[in-house]
Amino acid sequence: MIRLYVVQDLSQDVEIEAKADQIHYLAHVMRARTGDELLVFNGRDGEWLTRLVTISRREARLLTVRRQRPQTDGPDLDLLIALVKRARLDTIVEKAAELGARRVRPLLTERANADHTNLARLRAIAIEAAEQTGRLDAPEILSPAGLTEVLADWPGERRLMFCDEGGEAAPALAALAGAERGPWAILIGPEGGFSPAERAAARAAPGAVPVSLGPRILRADTAAIAALSLWQAALGDWRGA
Ligand code: SAH
Repeated sequence: MIRLYVVQDLSQDVEIEAKADQIHYLAHVMRARTGDELLVFNGRDGEWLTRLVTISRREARLLTVRRQRPQTDGPDLDLLIALVKRARLDTIVEKAAELGARRVRPLLTERANADHTNLARLRAIAIEAAEQTGRLDAPEILSPAGLTEVLADWPGERRLMFCDEGGEAAPALAALAGAERGPWAILIGPEGGFSPAERAAARAAPGAVPVSLGPRILRADTAAIAALSLWQAALGDWRGA
């Protein structure tokens, strides 16, 4: 069944006006018709069964019928990713949504790519991936920030899985086994790696857990997927409820 992310509050008998891209998707891609049922979610009010009450090339209106699932949120996991080339960043945002990250923060680092971030585009990618996964929220895409500043006010209660290609870090699975559950973030560097000063700062952050992702240097997108998977398996919702 089609799933759509909406911003409106959801409750019984609420009418929802689809946005332009959703109208196009419903009318042209899915060839939806009046009376069709689809699911909507907004990250707050659970998942609602809705019925299409109007559909044309210019508008689509849905009416909520009943709540199918109460709101549940995945683990409190942030992905901090240095700015990499646009195509890779797109992939990383999509995979982070699929793998259950709650927030993605692009980072400016010494060796990162220039900031050409198009937040609207990344948010659209995150929403589309969230719709497809069945999750009940869409990851928040935060505006880019400097790594130095982010580390300088690092909140100690959020642990930091620092993916350190330098070679001295403990193997990821060993480092995460037995670690505390709770709020976490994963830190991945740019294609050029972290500078020595950045590595030192990341290791010194309160709650930092430096990890190795094996003996091979991975591209940033591969490293992000591997790190998210390992974290979910060790500490996240891949362990079961
Ligand atoms: N140019 C760098 C590699 C950067 S790879 C170099 O040659 O050293 C991009 C990012 O992916 C790294 O900053 C790190 O965060 C992560 N990464 C890649 N391979 C890794 C590994 N084997 N272990 C831990 N992190 C890794």
